[in-house]
Amino acid sequence: MKSLGKFPDRFRVALTIDTEQRGRPADPDNPRRLLEALAAAAAPASFFIQGRWAGAYPDLARRIAADGHLIGNHSYYHAPMNLLTDEGIRNSVGRAEEAIVVATGVDPRPWFRCPYGEGEDDARVLALLAELGYRNVTWDFETDDWQTGRDAGALIETVVQGCRDLGDGARVLLHSWPDVTAAALPEMIVCLRAAGAELVRLNDFAA
Ligand SMILES: [Zn+2]
Repeated sequence: MKSLGKFPDRFRVALTIDTEQRGRPADPDNPRRLLEALAAAAAPASFFIQGRWAGAYPDLARRIAADGHLIGNHSYYHAPMNLLTDEGIRNSVGRAEEAIVVATGVDPRPWFRCPYGEGEDDARVLALLAELGYRNVTWDFETDDWQTGRDAGALIETVVQGCRDLGDGARVLLHSWPDVTAAALPEMIVCLRAAGAELVRLNDFAA
């Protein structure tokens, strides 16, 4: 084990939650459970919302905004950005932005996350995002919360250890729909704080 002295006493962590149609069978109530857990712990997070999801679940989208979480754009259909034409990217990003604004009243710019992270190293994709007023936000380590059979305790351990290894400014990728994420989040927040983490929104890193 590394020396504790290498870790800062306090470090900031941004929980980022890709909020989208379910990728596998899961309890449809999970997004609401995540919001309840964050509210109960007074923990801020950053939600990258798929446009199609915002249109399907406007009440939940509105609550994300009402609860004070940061809102970003996660495209409309969740297609890999690097497989779309220039016009396809403009349509997907713009249509998602419109759906998010209608549901939440919040402009998601400049926050964008490429579905699957695909295109985040592609100069064409990044230039188009910039033209549309966005910058892509990646994540710092894999939690694999979307994987079948992921264990809640193991997920918490991955997140806490990953954030401690990174020090200040870790961006954790979670998803809105997996059962394990909803099950793990309350204790994950407790464990992160016990390890010295301050939970913040992505825009707090710039401050
Ligand atoms: Zn996604």
